[in-house]
Amino acid sequence: MSENQVQSTLKDTLVELDKKHFIHPTSSLKQQQESGPPFIFTEGKGVYLTDISGKKVLEGMSSLWNVNVGYGRKELAEAARDQMEKLAFTNSFSSFSNEPAIRLAAKLAEITPCDLNAVFFTSGGSESNDTAYKLVRHYWKLKGSPQKTKIISRKKGYHGVNIGATSATGISPFHQMTSSLAPDFLHVDTFSTDALRDCIAKEGADTIAAFISEPVQGAGGVNIAPDGYFQEVRKICDENNILFIADEVITGFGRTGKLFACEHYNVVPDVLLLAKGITSGYIQLGAVVLTERIHKELIALSDGVLLHGYTYSGHATACAVALKNLEIIEKENLVENSRLMGEKLLNGFKKIQAEVDIVGEVRALGLIGAVEIIDPVTNNRFPTLISPKVSAECAKRGLIVRTVGFEGMDTVVFSPPLVINKQEIDELISILRDSLLAVQNSL
Ligand code: PMP
Repeated sequence: MSENQVQSTLKDTLVELDKKHFIHPTSSLKQQQESGPPFIFTEGKGVYLTDISGKKVLEGMSSLWNVNVGYGRKELAEAARDQMEKLAFTNSFSSFSNEPAIRLAAKLAEITPCDLNAVFFTSGGSESNDTAYKLVRHYWKLKGSPQKTKIISRKKGYHGVNIGATSATGISPFHQMTSSLAPDFLHVDTFSTDALRDCIAKEGADTIAAFISEPVQGAGGVNIAPDGYFQEVRKICDENNILFIADEVITGFGRTGKLFACEHYNVVPDVLLLAKGITSGYIQLGAVVLTERIHKELIALSDGVLLHGYTYSGHATACAVALKNLEIIEKENLVENSRLMGEKLLNGFKKIQAEVDIVGEVRALGLIGAVEIIDPVTNNRFPTLISPKVSAECAKRGLIVRTVGFEGMDTVVFSPPLVINKQEIDELISILRDSLLAVQNSL
């Protein structure tokens, strides 16, 4: 057999095994059986992935908004290997500790804004969210306000898939997937501070534990707040004795052109949620960062064991990889690159918008962006979703993007690795333009 034949037999075998045994997350089970996996990736380097057939694609999404330092970083493999050889894992319950977890907690305290100084480790964004909901309720309980239980989040907000995180998520198909959700979650309009004030007035501030939002909504379609919104939110929370949780699972670690997106708004949350870019996806890790004030109050008021902890909270290998990842982000000025390449990306979107009729609003902040698809005749969405056709055309031409097709949106979203350079942005824009024109001509 030739090498090509061997590869194609291997691929067929893997496709069959995939269909039979691999339940994919957030996927269509039927479509998997009909068409199999679109790609079986085998290698990655920089902003590119290669699949088992040898096809190379530009990763316009950093996988799930997270591979910030790009693929194939040997330094991260070495950091994991060194730590695994010394001490792969030991638990952090009962105050047992390990050096990478201590150093990473101290590093996060140093780089996060103001007095966000105390860190609880998780294994990802959903766990960071559920941890935060429990911690803020625990805090109010210790402070003598056990009735402060409600969490207000926003429509189109995405916070993950654990039961609390699903309940906080403001995208209805995620609620409809299962039959019952957690109590005490409320949703307000995305950028309306009036809606937030009304909700607090209606429910009573003394029943509300926290307000949570992403500084830039990601999975809900890359929605960027208007000027003044977060400053007003911070004021409303302070006036009503409500904690403000910022979910920076996507936006943290340079995605928006600042190290943390709250810095765009000069607003400091009481609780900061992190995951994804903390290790650039090389290993699972998340974190909940509390202000020193809240940490001190918890210490002063606590009278027993904090009965919340994951086996992998403070995982030594994950923390060692995170430390190396943060070193790379600093050393290679990736936050600044995100800002500069983000401007180039947005300019590229604007050129396409001027040329292609089915492109509506375009937006980006750093290297997170979106292109809306509209019917140029009505200026509204087409009756059927068009963005999946665009993403299929992009994939054919060697570019991976994602689409958002719920809550009235028909949107293509982008979140390329922060290491992307000018030529690669040009390539992304050129493939996107050709794909949009191909779809437009087919309508
Ligand atoms: N919060 C936000 C803002 C997210 O975008 C995500 C994941 N896309 C999550 C939480 C959940 O993170 P994970 O998938 O790591 O559980």
